Amino acid sequence: MNLLEVRDLTASYGVAQALFGVTLDIAEGEVVALMGRNGMGKTTTVKAICRMIASSGTLRLGGVDLHPLPSHKAARLGIGLAPEGRRCFRDLTVEENLIAAARTGDWTSTSIGDLFPRLAERKNQLAGSLSGGEQQMLAIGRALMTNPRLLILDEATEGLAPIIRQEIWAAVARLKQETGTAILLIDKSVRELSQVADRAVILARGQTVWSGAFGEMSADISERYIGV
Ligand code: ATP
Repeated sequence: MNLLEVRDLTASYGVAQALFGVTLDIAEGEVVALMGRNGMGKTTTVKAICRMIASSGTLRLGGVDLHPLPSHKAARLGIGLAPEGRRCFRDLTVEENLIAAARTGDWTSTSIGDLFPRLAERKNQLAGSLSGGEQQMLAIGRALMTNPRLLILDEATEGLAPIIRQEIWAAVARLKQETGTAILLIDKSVRELSQVADRAVILARGQTVWSGAFGEMSADISERYIGV
């Protein structure tokens, strides 16, 4: 059984339909990249999985239907989201931000500091004074503090310098190897994603149009649906 099962998912913003049939499965321990051009439905898919927007179709985590659940219950079931745009408490310290997100489980602010040494160095600094990359690391740390079965990173490296992007990808690779956490990545760089993700799922106009291993993605597919 897959950890996450998404089949024929549809969702709308008021009268404007945004998802027309998204299909996306993630097995335990798998890292999957969700790709596609701007406005094709990636963030809306994430919002539906996290129960932040109404949707229909199949949506299950560990066999449990997510549809009846409000977002805090979906989170409690094991979905940890580092949202697009980071969103930490700017007036709390790094440590306080991590503790505020904590749920019972293995992750502690010390183990997050081990994964992201920059956060350990800055644990008493206000989150609002961190660089963009450090805030992103903190957003990932906050999501991990909920001890998720599925971690979702929405545009975790957007606007960041290449060296910081590499630090984030290295942390994702470590998470995969050492913890076996299933991870859904949304990002733009096929090259960088292919280094850390096992598979890609591509959306166009709110639908899954392709899925497979990066090695199977033809130049035609990536040009047509991703724009590279
Ligand atoms: P990006 O890479 O730009 O974040 P995306 O693939 O994540 O793009 P979505 O943000 O999911 O795309 O958008 C899918 C569609 O839903 C787009 O047509 C978008 O304009 C629309 N949409 C997104 N958010 C809203 C909203 N709050 N209200 C109305 N329409 C929205």
